[in-house]
Amino acid sequence: MRMTPDLTGHLRSARAWIGLGVLAPLGLLVVSGLMLIDLRVDAWDKAAQTSRNLLQVIERDIARNVEIIDLSLRGVVDNLSTPGFSSVSPALRQLILFDRAVTARDMGVFLVVDENGDTLFDANAIPARPLNNADRSYFRAHRDRPDLGLFIGEPVTSRLLGVPVIVLSRRITKPDGSFGGVVQASLKLTYFSRLFANIALGAKGAINLYARDGQRIMRHPEIAGAIGDNVAASTSFQRFVREDSGSFIGSAVRSDEPRHHTFTRIGDLPLILAVTLAPDEIDAEWRAKALVIGSIVLILCGLCAGLSLLFGRELRHRGRMQRELARLSLTDPLTGLPNRRRFEEALADVEGGRVTRDEPLSLLVIDVDHFKAVNDRYGHAVGDEVLKGLARCLQASVRHPGDLICRVGGEEFVMLLPGTEVASAQRVADTVHAEVHRLGLPAAGIPAGALTVSIGLAGTAPASAARGGATDLYRVADAALYAAKASGRNRTCSRSSAREGASDEEAEAA
Ligand code: GH3
Ligand code: MG
Ligand code: MG
Repeated sequence: MRMTPDLTGHLRSARAWIGLGVLAPLGLLVVSGLMLIDLRVDAWDKAAQTSRNLLQVIERDIARNVEIIDLSLRGVVDNLSTPGFSSVSPALRQLILFDRAVTARDMGVFLVVDENGDTLFDANAIPARPLNNADRSYFRAHRDRPDLGLFIGEPVTSRLLGVPVIVLSRRITKPDGSFGGVVQASLKLTYFSRLFANIALGAKGAINLYARDGQRIMRHPEIAGAIGDNVAASTSFQRFVREDSGSFIGSAVRSDEPRHHTFTRIGDLPLILAVTLAPDEIDAEWRAKALVIGSIVLILCGLCAGLSLLFGRELRHRGRMQRELARLSLTDPLTGLPNRRRFEEALADVEGGRVTRDEPLSLLVIDVDHFKAVNDRYGHAVGDEVLKGLARCLQASVRHPGDLICRVGGEEFVMLLPGTEVASAQRVADTVHAEVHRLGLPAAGIPAGALTVSIGLAGTAPASAARGGATDLYRVADAALYAAKASGRNRTCSRSSAREGASDEEAEAA
């Protein structure tokens, strides 16, 4: 795949890398932030779903068992009115009464009590164990309300068994419609303990079974004082009663701590089952994940930012080095003047029309006279110093910012003067001669006036410098220099490039 020059350019730009170093981590942060939010939503969904599933299974089990017990209660109520019931033997009466009564692991006692609360029949004993239940709430409830149907009482301690139970009961109505007692079956709370066992809901989570009047029947895990406690005043519980089933975040029933409640009424019974979870425990697993992912992302972001900044800085440094190398490649190390390559570039710019054509252009080629003799007499090092002095003389001779002075050979220099007519260039050449005349190296024994230069001068009319005219200009100026040398040195010879070839030569002593 080939990258477009535009893209390659961007990749080389330090600013692009530094920008990337900021933007990429930002993007990474945003994406991982969204991901973490999503993970948290998932954690909450999962918790709610687990609570709902749990409720469904438990609700079904309790509803079924209550239904079976209720069927037994109804059976006893029906059997009590079997014709001839009172005339058969106690053993037969027991058989008739309790033939449909359940006997299961967590069933307590199964009794029939009369309108005074005294036991008439007892599924487990003949004769019935003597007992009076007139003070029990279910007894009073049935006595006072004929239409109560199945009644589920609050947790009590069984008088016969001495263990905590709830009592399910139905009213016995005499043929005349008056209260005839109660058929009652007790269910040990161990039934619920076994049902709820092994359900893990975290340290603060719990599953609760309430009567609709706010009596807590069972709590798992069990805590002291929870069973028989009434939570009717709790706003969360009031919501359980109002809405029948659902889930919400509210306060715990016995404190202000926030809790996630999922609740359902059990069938159409006056029982409410609620699973309660602590939000911080729902978040715990997510928080651990978030910590790991967040740390990794932050480290990656830091690395990304750091590397991009480093890379950007490196690119900047490289850019500076390249510019410096480019400058050095166009500079003469001895004099610090632009070198021959720079001069050729300038000529190419003129030819290519990259600089303005509608102005005159002059070129001076300057060569030191008898420089070899200077070297021979004073040594190469002094020769170098002379060349540096000469460079200063040339720089002192021009004024315009566009003027270009280059060292193009050993002791040969050029001055490219854009916008300068030959006549003006001639004056520049005169200044050069004057400056060189003042140049001396007393320390090396070279007095002022000992050094001279010869100058070849050529100029073009506007527009003719383009299309090869510039190279031409150099050739013509070089020929003029040759003429200056030939005609005695220490002078300027000028030729107009337009008239080149006419061998019309003008020499002028400095
Ligand atoms: P003329 O130009 O007047 O004909 O005589 P010239 O002696 O200057 O001629 P020529 O071009 O033959 O000599 C140029 C000398 O410049 C040859 C070389 O020793 C010397 N030269 C070239 N480059 C350098 C340099 O960088 N430093 C020094 N010291 N001398 C250099
Ligand atoms: Mg020379
Ligand atoms: Mg020379």
